Amino acid sequence: MSNSDWLDRTRTALWHPCTQMKQLEAMPPLPIARGEGPWLIDYDGRRYLDAVSSWWVNLFGHAEPRINAAIVDQLSRIEHVILAGCTHAPVVELSERLASLTGLGHAFYASDGASATEIALKMSFHYWRNSGQPDKTGFVSLKNGYHGETLGALSVTDVALFKDTYAPLLRNSHQAMSPDWRLAEPGESAETYALRAAADLEVWLVDHADTTAAVIVEPLVQGAAGMAMHHPAYLARLREVCDRHDVHLIADEIAVGFGRTGTMFACEQAAARVADIADFICLSKGITGGYLPLSAVLTRDEIYAAFYDDRTARGFLHSHSYTGNPLACRAALAVLDIFAQDDVIARNRTKSARFTEMLAELRGHPRVRHFRQAGMIWAFDVADAAPGFAADFHRRALDLGVFIRPIGNTVYFMPPYCIGEAEMTQLNEATLTLLDT
Ligand SMILES: *Cc1c(COP(=O)(O)O)cnc(C)c1O
Repeated sequence: MSNSDWLDRTRTALWHPCTQMKQLEAMPPLPIARGEGPWLIDYDGRRYLDAVSSWWVNLFGHAEPRINAAIVDQLSRIEHVILAGCTHAPVVELSERLASLTGLGHAFYASDGASATEIALKMSFHYWRNSGQPDKTGFVSLKNGYHGETLGALSVTDVALFKDTYAPLLRNSHQAMSPDWRLAEPGESAETYALRAAADLEVWLVDHADTTAAVIVEPLVQGAAGMAMHHPAYLARLREVCDRHDVHLIADEIAVGFGRTGTMFACEQAAARVADIADFICLSKGITGGYLPLSAVLTRDEIYAAFYDDRTARGFLHSHSYTGNPLACRAALAVLDIFAQDDVIARNRTKSARFTEMLAELRGHPRVRHFRQAGMIWAFDVADAAPGFAADFHRRALDLGVFIRPIGNTVYFMPPYCIGEAEMTQLNEATLTLLDT
């Protein structure tokens, strides 16, 4: 089978995500036959550098032997079992390890990021209800924030293109000032601006804390907003604000968790442990190295204790069929092993500093604005981007062997951590070429 066979069939048989299907006629999807490290290979044998880690999920490259082996081993034991009334080693071990990494615990599992958001929102609301404060039903999120696209998650998401059509189905929530440093006044530092954004949120909470359950944020990087970055001081200050007003803080680390911003979890750049910042952490995407759908929400003992009761209805009765899937948990355990075996966080620190140096010419390019970097994420905005810039850049990048998907006029690199210098050079050179033509 060649590329073109799959193209015809996918158009008829599928409804692709985040896609106006009519546009597939002009911009066909890439039929991918296999993957190798940071490379995607199509049915005609062409190779493309996966500069977006297959939508931010892949950490160690495609077909990573150790993750492959863990899944194969688990396949011969138990592929899946109901988690209501049963338990198993992979889910217990993963929960213990995530707890020791974050300082939060009692991991609750689902399959996608959006489901983790739903779980955190429901848990927060239900905690207040169990604690005699049933009026705390509201949520605060940030302008341009993204937390997924199921109805509850979409309610706290602020991306007009995804949200406006469904507005009549959604619950109101408040969107607070974004700490994105691009919005700072001239001469204002990223830190000062971040603290001003936190103060602005506090002003709102002064009047609304009685009816607010939680604030949900994407720590350090608002991904779908176009890799908008903020100073870690925002998170530490927000923790204080939430404490003063008795409101939960939900850290949506679905995109930034597992080393993406340079620390295991983004919250660790604001405090020693995730638990010093967040009451809930949502994890997904990189959790299985980009292999299998899995998400988790971890929380505090005090929050868990408010559900622990003789009355069934005080419990958290949420469920998904594949909750705690053993294959996915084994992939996640293999990912944590790789972090330890390969000293990934320290190695990425060297690598990201080196790559940032390599991007100096790009950073100084006359069309590049707001060049920014956090760990293994690089982004910049393109001046005078014409309408249709993102699709056009994406298409032309494919001709240069690079799979890259700008968001609006923001070009970003979010490669698998296994990317090497030669590949980063190709990405850099392709980008420079595309900006000049
Ligand atoms: C991707 C993402 C989600 C949603 O995860 P899905 O698995 O796509 O449902 C939620 N929050 C953030 C920050 C994300 O990047």
